[in-house]
Amino acid sequence: MLKDLVDLKHGVLLDRAIRFRFNPKGHLIVTQSSESPAIRLVALGGLGEIGMNCLAIEAAGKLLVIDCGVSFPHTDLGVDVYHPDFSYLERRRDRVVGIVLTHGHEDHIGGLPYLLRVLDVPVHGSCHALGLASERLLERGFSPRQIRLMPFSVGQRFEAGPFSIEPVRVSHSIPEACALVIRHQRFTIVHTGDFKFDPDPPDGHATDEERLRQIGDEGVSLLLSDSTNIDAEGMSGSERSVGRALSDVISACETRVVVGLFSSNVHRLRMVGEIAQACGRKITLLGRSAQTQVRVATRCGLLNWPSDLLIPPDLLGSVGQRQSLIIASGTQGEPMAALSRLSFQTHPALTLAPKDVLVLSSRVIPGNDPAVSRMISNFIRQGVSVVHRVTNPSIHVSGHAHRDEQRRMIELLRPSVFVPVHGTLHHLHRHAEFARSLGVPTVMAAENGEVLELSSGGIRVGDVVEVGKIATYNGDELLPSVLKQREYLGRHGVAVLTLAIDARGRMIFPPWLSTRGVLDDMEERDVLNGAVENVVKALSSWSFSEQNPSDQEVMEVAERAVQRSLDGLSSRRPMTIVHVVRA
Ligand SMILES: [Zn+2]
Ligand SMILES: [Zn+2]
Repeated sequence: MLKDLVDLKHGVLLDRAIRFRFNPKGHLIVTQSSESPAIRLVALGGLGEIGMNCLAIEAAGKLLVIDCGVSFPHTDLGVDVYHPDFSYLERRRDRVVGIVLTHGHEDHIGGLPYLLRVLDVPVHGSCHALGLASERLLERGFSPRQIRLMPFSVGQRFEAGPFSIEPVRVSHSIPEACALVIRHQRFTIVHTGDFKFDPDPPDGHATDEERLRQIGDEGVSLLLSDSTNIDAEGMSGSERSVGRALSDVISACETRVVVGLFSSNVHRLRMVGEIAQACGRKITLLGRSAQTQVRVATRCGLLNWPSDLLIPPDLLGSVGQRQSLIIASGTQGEPMAALSRLSFQTHPALTLAPKDVLVLSSRVIPGNDPAVSRMISNFIRQGVSVVHRVTNPSIHVSGHAHRDEQRRMIELLRPSVFVPVHGTLHHLHRHAEFARSLGVPTVMAAENGEVLELSSGGIRVGDVVEVGKIATYNGDELLPSVLKQREYLGRHGVAVLTLAIDARGRMIFPPWLSTRGVLDDMEERDVLNGAVENVVKALSSWSFSEQNPSDQEVMEVAERAVQRSLDGLSSRRPMTIVHVVRA
């Protein structure tokens, strides 16, 4: 059977010494290798999903972790963020030599407070990424002494265990983003991080094509490349063009303007600052995230706003509407964020007036559409004029490479092996297909947990390790059993029955049954009375095994009676809780 010989998904023979692949002309190429892998790579997150990026690279018995991100929930079960299950790293904690951050987005740094609870290792990153990471860590109770932050600059190589690492500048929707060139023995791995080719970025730091080409000339064993926008043709567009579009919109406004943006996009913050100054407006930051981002960017010398440009939220009343420009966070309709609260008119610092203008300089992350659309509707109801990407496509560009830029990265680096990262399975497979079409000799799309073994013979999937995601609320883990209960409660509601019984299991008061999220007021009384009658009948006719039945026995009989009754009388199956009180 073919399937006994070949792993069809990855195109590798199950005899691990033999591998085959098709070259671009469709010829079957078979290679044989007796080498053991020199480097192992395991993604704990980010392969098969957008978010939670975390990759372990293992060589000479040591592990290096690239990025440590979170992802955000799309269901309302009270989860703040998900982080990767770090058990794989925890079991190898003595061998982990450090964590390297490609940039400061939450999907790359947000998991650090959870990983550093179990690992005491240095964290390498740019000033900006480390600034944001340390904010997160301090917020979660770390003291400055507990964290070892090692700032790096592009072009400066540093060592971590057996790895030599060279950060290379890439442009992205956050400053100081880097690709990482990771060298070990004769192997050179390039991890692009999140990137785009913006020929004229506002901070002047374009992707360093020249250095990437040199690295390509030296030879790249493996390229791991950002797949987010593999479905988007052409180029992602320049951030400076967004500045021009925002300037056109804002300078035409006669009233108060609110700009909603991802505040980690310091390039855009800086351009909005310039526009505000040109229009004679003062900036007010609404939302903790916007304030944190401005603070960190200023500390790293990336933002240099004059001190009189900012007006604190509590002094908003002292500025005329035409002199005010608000920067607000929460473009994804997050319920507690500034924009949502403005849309519900519950923000303590500001209520928008009809004809005020809201500019949403952002995209809607898939899954957030209903929340964003609800928020926009609320603003429209208030008479606020909303400018967003659908009505004016020029006010936002993506920070991730489109297909032409992804091609450019492959052409500059000319890797022997290509593994797409940062994407759903669809993105990864499409990016893999694209790399194959560009003639990359070996291409493999892998998922979280699959151990990729890199040797001079190529790459193959070795073991599969257990991975997963951990839900958290306010920094603490929420167990799957708790989330399951929340899901059930959300769908079916809850019924609570209280029984007062004597030592022989006889009721001394009528049972008390109440429900939440199950019945409406009209039907409640009849259904509950019927259910209570059934409970009384069930308990009096039940032949308990002993004279003195246990609480557990009584609870089980009563629970079944409540469930049967509510199902029969109202077709509802709520979670049922029975309390037994002994008299
Ligand atoms: Zn990013
Ligand atoms: Zn990312």
